Amino acid sequence: MKDILQDLSLPELEVLVLSLGEKKFRAVQIFQGLMQGKKISELPVSATLRAQLLEKYEDEPVRIQEVFTSADGTKKYLFALADGNLIESVLMKYKYGATQCVSTQVGCRMGCKFCASTLNGLLRNLTAGEILSEILVVNRSEGGTLKERAVHNVVLMGSGEPFDNYDNVVKFLRLLTAEGGINISARNVSLSTCGLVPKMRAFAEEGIPLNLTVSLHASTDEERARTMPVANAYKIADILKACDYYFQKTGRRYIFEYSLIGGENSDEKHAHALAALLKGRPCHVNLIRLNEVKERTLKTVTEKDAYRFLGYLEKDGISATLRRSMGNDIGGACGQLRASYLKDKENDGRSAEE
Ligand code: SAH
Repeated sequence: MKDILQDLSLPELEVLVLSLGEKKFRAVQIFQGLMQGKKISELPVSATLRAQLLEKYEDEPVRIQEVFTSADGTKKYLFALADGNLIESVLMKYKYGATQCVSTQVGCRMGCKFCASTLNGLLRNLTAGEILSEILVVNRSEGGTLKERAVHNVVLMGSGEPFDNYDNVVKFLRLLTAEGGINISARNVSLSTCGLVPKMRAFAEEGIPLNLTVSLHASTDEERARTMPVANAYKIADILKACDYYFQKTGRRYIFEYSLIGGENSDEKHAHALAALLKGRPCHVNLIRLNEVKERTLKTVTEKDAYRFLGYLEKDGISATLRRSMGNDIGGACGQLRASYLKDKENDGRSAEE
């Protein structure tokens, strides 16, 4: 695979164009063109410069392979990368704007028992420019521009563990929030982690005030380890300390994701234990009913039980919401689409052989 031009910041592009014997202002033309979701072959520069760039860089690092539209308007994008790997991203349309959920890795190695992204392990990290391109191509395909964006909020909740690809993700966030680019404010970005404590602490030092979200799903380490192997490496107590450190550094309250799993973490006693754990902290809890994944045995809860759980938390003084589950009819949960697509391909392959 060639390099990814979208990995470069404007100052880096300036160094590049100067090294190619071009004037410095060409870098701005390239940067703005790329940020509009253009391919290198479409950039408004000379044919010679385009040809020079194409020798070293991928013309289209993230290409839309297929788009699935749900009855509720949610769109799921399946992208092909330059090396043929597939990743997915979801665009959810709300009254206040559109939120895009992006992938940070091809697959994932965290092994959470409820998640489809991790079924085949980690294939590779995405580069900063590949993650950014997920947004650039969707913004363009939805008719957005740099001034009037079609993507308003970004959540790093697709496939992958963002802090397992730390350097590329931090670089991506700097590109995403850079002036003159697509310029999405950190306040409109949520990063979800399974709780890699040292990386959470390092991230607090980066000075990027986004919505830090931690996938908790249990209130004791023992219970957590039943569905999340990462709980054997990092304790909830240390995760909470790292969250407080982030709050101290950025002034941003943090968020916990709690997926309700039937017979596992969704009884009244679990709600009270969660409330006791989080009481008095500058945090919010996002509840979501488990999205059942066909390769996994875990079961979800009824909507009524989910609201009951929410009620217990609220009564105990915890700020919480039950998230609407969107795009269920198109494989909304992380990694589901890619997993089913790969399966279909596998089956296609098989039937062709038979
Ligand atoms: N690796 C990161 C971000 C990706 S997952 C993390 O662990 O936070 C985004 C969120 O969806 C996480 O809270 C994850 O635990 C949750 N999730 C994954 N599979 C799910 C499923 N089948 N149903 C409900 N939530 C799920």
